[in-house]
Order: sequence, then C-alpha cells, then structure tokens
Amino acid sequence: MYSTKAYSAASATARFVSSSIPRRDPTDRDVQIEILFCGICHSDLHLVRNEWSSIMPTVYPIVPGHEIVGRVTRVGSAVTKYKPGDLAAVGCLVDSDGTCPECKAGLEQLCPNQTLTFNSPDKYLGGVTYGGYSDSIVVDERFVLRVPSNLYIAGAAPLLCAGITTYSPMRRGGVTKGKKVGVVGLGGLGHMGVKFAHAFGAHVVAFTTSPNKKEDALRLGADEIVVSRNADEMKKHAGSFDFILDAVAADHDINAYINLLGRDGTVTIVGAPEKPLAVSAFSLLMGRRKLAGSIIGGIAETQEMLDFCGAHHINADVEVIPIQKVNEAYERLLKSDVKYRFSIDMASL
Ligand SMILES: [Zn+2]
Ligand SMILES: [Zn+2]
Repeated sequence: MYSTKAYSAASATARFVSSSIPRRDPTDRDVQIEILFCGICHSDLHLVRNEWSSIMPTVYPIVPGHEIVGRVTRVGSAVTKYKPGDLAAVGCLVDSDGTCPECKAGLEQLCPNQTLTFNSPDKYLGGVTYGGYSDSIVVDERFVLRVPSNLYIAGAAPLLCAGITTYSPMRRGGVTKGKKVGVVGLGGLGHMGVKFAHAFGAHVVAFTTSPNKKEDALRLGADEIVVSRNADEMKKHAGSFDFILDAVAADHDINAYINLLGRDGTVTIVGAPEKPLAVSAFSLLMGRRKLAGSIIGGIAETQEMLDFCGAHHINADVEVIPIQKVNEAYERLLKSDVKYRFSIDMASL
C-alpha cells in the first residue's frame, strides 16, 4: 500500500479539500497509472452530494472521477499489454467477476459483481474505491484501455464516460449513413452524441431549448437544429426519425420525441431524470416505436470507441481547469455553464 494525493469531499455538503488516500501496490496483473487528466461527469456531482442514495449511497470521504487518462508508471509481472510510458485510460469500471453471462458477452457494465471506479467496495484494501481526482491509480490490466497517441489528451478523458455512453447505443442502434438521427440536449453527453452521429454518416438533428446553441451545434456536426419549445418546428419532423438519443437529465416530455420517430424507430435515454417519465402508450403503439435505455459500454467496446476517435480525430470539447477550481466547477455544472466538459489538469495537484 502507498499513499497518493487526492481531492476529497467529507460529506454531502462539504467542499473538496486536498487530502491523501491509500492505493494498493500493483499486483502481478495490475497497471499503475500517473493520472494526467480527469473529466468531471455529472454523476460525480450526484454522488458527491449523495443524490442517488436510494440506489448507491455515498461513502465518505469520496474521491470521484471516472474519466481518467494518464501514463503508465509501473506494471505487474504478468501484465502483457502495457509498459511504463504508455498512455492509458480508465473509465467507470475497474473490475467485474469475469464469469457471469454478461461478462462472458463482453458486457462488464452489466455485471452484477462489478467494481466501479469510485464509491464501490474495494476488494483489495477494504472501504471503497477512490476515483480519478488524484495523482495515481492502480487497476487490473483487463480494465485499462489504450489511448490513441494522436488524441488531445485533456479532451480524450471525457470519452471514457460521456463518449462510450453515447457511442454504444448509436452503434447498436444502427446509426449510419442514410439514417435520420436526433440528439436531445447539448451538454456533456449530447455534444458527444452529435459528434459520433455525424462521424457515423447519419443526418443529424440537434434538439435544444436554447436557440443560441445553434452555431455550436452546427460546428459539432449537426445538419439541422430544432428548438424544442417551438411546436411548429417539432411538428415538421413528426414520424421521420430512425433513432433519437435523449441525453436530458432533467424532467421533460419524452412523448414529444417518441412522436418524431418513424416506424420501428427507437428513442434511447442515456440521461437519468430524477422523476419517472410519463410515457404515452399510444405514442409507442403507433409505428411500433421503442423506448430504450443504455449505460456506458463493455471494455472491448470502450476500446473500439477510443480507436474510432483516434481514426476520426474525435475529442470531447473541454474547459481545462486546475484541481483547485473543482468546487467552482461543480457550481457551474449545475448551471450547465461549461462547453462541454470540465477536464482537470492533474499536474495542478
Ligand atoms: Zn460518468
Ligand atoms: Zn460478470
């Protein structure tokens, strides 16, 4: 065991403070990574403030962060895929049982015995796991990812959660050339959704509540933008979409989007509104439409996504901050005042 620097919060209302946390010494199969950048995901904020207490109560002190990019500093003797000096990444998962049907299908994100990168029971040290707002992390090789060397690494960090969360459902949903695809909500997730849908060759329509995001949506790769508050604009697109990615985390009218689907079209939700969404059965019945959900992706698919980003030069749009600004960044995140993800420069620690 060794001690590493981190930023932690001691309670749901506490500010982040500089602290130190234990990490295990690398075992034979472990990779030790010096963290260079860590993205700030909205779920970091939910967990720090214990807002998901019913499904995932927060254990304090908490060190969040699951959008990690860094450099390998040490590897165990049985590690074959990484060597010191390599760029490497860690996402939302650091372990799973490897034996259940989900793991065997490469869907570690659905494993009932998974270990999340933070706030999850730590099998090695007891207590809970600590995330990426820290100097270094030690992770089983099976959960470490390769980072294409051409990526802008501060902007690559958010790919590990926001990237795979949007890439996975669109890949599975057949988003490709000739398809009409909508992306609802232009935040951390939505802006990646627009980039991927565009890179997959689809006709991309971005939905937003704020008309002033138009220029940005076009720059990110949207072919059209629809202001969702404008009923006439919405009506023009009725029954025409193959796939809609709904990345809105606040309460909203999901039927307005289901009604935009064509026959057998799918709305996939990747945001997590606190209150249940009211779904009109008729909206689904007419046109055999589907409402689905999706959460991150498996390890192999996450690697596929990173490689795709390397080949297509895709990064998240980030505002780089020093760790000392993390409290302020959380306040701004609540106001959606970031384009489109904060990435913490861990050298500041
Ligand atoms: Zn996340
Ligand atoms: Zn499993």
